[in-house]
Amino acid sequence: MPSIRPATLIAALPQPVVMIDNEGLVIHANPAAIELFGRKMGVSNIRAHLRQPAVAAMLERVFGGQSDGSAPFVTATASQEIVWRVDARRIDRAHILLSMQDVSDIESAEAQRRDFVANVSHELRSPLTVLAGFIETLRGPAGDDPAARAEFLGIMAEQSARMTGLVKDLLSLARVEAVERIRPRDPVAIDRVIAGTLAALRPQIESRGLELHCDIPPDLPEIPGDADQLAQVFHNLIENGVNYGGGGRLEVSAEKLPSYPGIAGPVLRVCVRDYGDGIDPEHVPRLTERFYRVDKARSRDAGGTGLGLAIVKHILVRHRGRLVVRSRVGEGACFSVILPCH
Ligand code: ADP
Repeated sequence: MPSIRPATLIAALPQPVVMIDNEGLVIHANPAAIELFGRKMGVSNIRAHLRQPAVAAMLERVFGGQSDGSAPFVTATASQEIVWRVDARRIDRAHILLSMQDVSDIESAEAQRRDFVANVSHELRSPLTVLAGFIETLRGPAGDDPAARAEFLGIMAEQSARMTGLVKDLLSLARVEAVERIRPRDPVAIDRVIAGTLAALRPQIESRGLELHCDIPPDLPEIPGDADQLAQVFHNLIENGVNYGGGGRLEVSAEKLPSYPGIAGPVLRVCVRDYGDGIDPEHVPRLTERFYRVDKARSRDAGGTGLGLAIVKHILVRHRGRLVVRSRVGEGACFSVILPCH
């Protein structure tokens, strides 16, 4: 192996690396460290740069001759906050090497996981509390009152259906995420998928008194996809159109477009248009987040789980497609699904 100077090796590393002595004086800083802390870092004490309590305490322990250590350090600019993990390794009696790794993505994934678990627990706890309350009531004097018993059992059935719906959607989401990287390639006739979905939802559409207008040309090409998952996409969008729609009308249309920005080749566009209250544009970018609801009470009353559009998004990512939402308050909403034909 050719002899390469350690400073040359350190300079080639993309992450900030700093060599210090036992007093904390900077002996060498690589370009990434200089970019982070500034030019003057080369003639300074590291304590002046790493001034947050956790990392400062870790450094003092390492200076004191204790073991190696690591601690978080956060830097922020106007547009970005970066969480670093600073690792201090003693090289010899007189020298310590500090290396920094950007762990912002790991931290944010961890925060998302925590939020998700908290949300699921909260969503399950509410119906469970109701069920436990009514079981207690039915064990008491209400158990002998046939009218009260029938009413309470009805509420209990509703709550258990809500939990079943939530668990079903959670499993769907987990299944879709598990295969998200594998693009489905079965030939799918979209017109048949939509017709099946509409047939399944017809009782809901009719019970809301909505007039359904369908504009699906018979000569749409088959596209590569997963028919069951695409049925789930249209089911969730049409069901939302029923639940949040109004104005007596619901439209489902499809067309082939020769091109679409960011997608190679022709695409199919399927639109689900309702004439309900619409959505304030400030909410639109967040609609596909898990458990994000514009109006929580309304979603719950409609039996919603807050996961429908998250499932839609993941299925469309798997199909290399897009979801485009156009809406204004008071003017209903149009959810368009864009699917590549090839
Ligand atoms: P939910 O189970 O609550 O319907 P979704 O993920 O399907 O969950 O939708 C998220 C939220 O987006 C809903 O709670 C609702 O506030 C809003 N939303 C979805 N579709 C529509 C629509 N067609 N019109 C108005 N708001 C909608």
